[in-house]
Amino acid sequence: MNPVLKYLHHKFLDDGQRWYPLLSVFYITYECKFRCPYCSDGFGRPYHALDNTPLASAEAIAILRRIRRHCDRIVITGGEPTLYPELDAILEAIPDLRFADVIFTTSGADLSRHLPAIARCVTSLVFSLDTLNHDKADAWAGVGPGTLQKILGSIEAARACKEAQFDIHISSVVTPENISDLYGVYRYAADRGYGFAASPQLVGVKPHGAFEDNQEYRRFYDYLIQEKQRGGRVFGTTLYLRHLRDLTSFRCHPFTMLVVSPAGEVFYPCLERGHPVGYLLDYESLHDLRKKGYEQFGLPPKCQSQCQSPCALGFALAIENPPSLLVEGCTIFFGGVRRALTLHA
Ligand code: SF4
Ligand code: SF4
Repeated sequence: MNPVLKYLHHKFLDDGQRWYPLLSVFYITYECKFRCPYCSDGFGRPYHALDNTPLASAEAIAILRRIRRHCDRIVITGGEPTLYPELDAILEAIPDLRFADVIFTTSGADLSRHLPAIARCVTSLVFSLDTLNHDKADAWAGVGPGTLQKILGSIEAARACKEAQFDIHISSVVTPENISDLYGVYRYAADRGYGFAASPQLVGVKPHGAFEDNQEYRRFYDYLIQEKQRGGRVFGTTLYLRHLRDLTSFRCHPFTMLVVSPAGEVFYPCLERGHPVGYLLDYESLHDLRKKGYEQFGLPPKCQSQCQSPCALGFALAIENPPSLLVEGCTIFFGGVRRALTLHA
């Protein structure tokens, strides 16, 4: 089904039976050498502490092929995806699968040797960057001095890569400890023509408690809204940014996404509060997986102010907007995905 029909399905028809994802996310490995203080899945566990059983490349490629059958946009993430042992073999297989968008997220610390393979298939290359303060960045990453220098070098190498088909994006996690640093990170991105996305730190699925009534936090999103209105490459619409600023409730539509673990298991209904419901290659139909998930785990949770991420919030706004805001919502839905996404933390 094409993306427009899928969108209409989610907006008007979702009957609880079918699963038509608009975006898929493949966590190819949970391994990560960094120790970012905010790293957390929906249950508050850092990704690097999760059971990690990545597939051999032939099986991972089969998973990608199966994902492509259901969806033409994919995020390849982790953990740190460059630590997947056979990353280049997977990347080499992607062009034949003809995804419309391939988004690759990375800390950037160990990217250079994969750059040629990334350049051939990735459309959006997303670097995590939370501060330009070297001491702070190195301490947060936890792998020794010189880490930020290395990351900035990788970003420069990506920028200089002549064969690249990708746009570069900088993705920041807003924490109570780095808000003042983020203006500089935004300027760094803007001065070089990169996209910029900022998502609040989540503790489990909830925004960090320190953001409640926090004027410094609100001021930063006001600044991004202003930059957006002046034509800056800030991810999301002004509506989306206002939701991040105000941390308002929204109605999530988890079946707009298909999230697959390193072991090839599909999460029902979502990664954040989900459960592995079945090995993707065992199911011809995602509708069967949704049915199985419902039988085992019941209806998706009725969530309120949580999971303020490009996927959960971005898709929710696109689906829920009244017609007058539909155009703005669609910008997130179809254009925004191309421009930047991060699923980290
Ligand atoms: S947030 Fe990302 S880069 Fe940082 S420790 Fe977690 S998986 Fe690694
Ligand atoms: S808000 Fe959405 S992504 Fe988050 S737990 Fe609820 S259903 Fe899952």
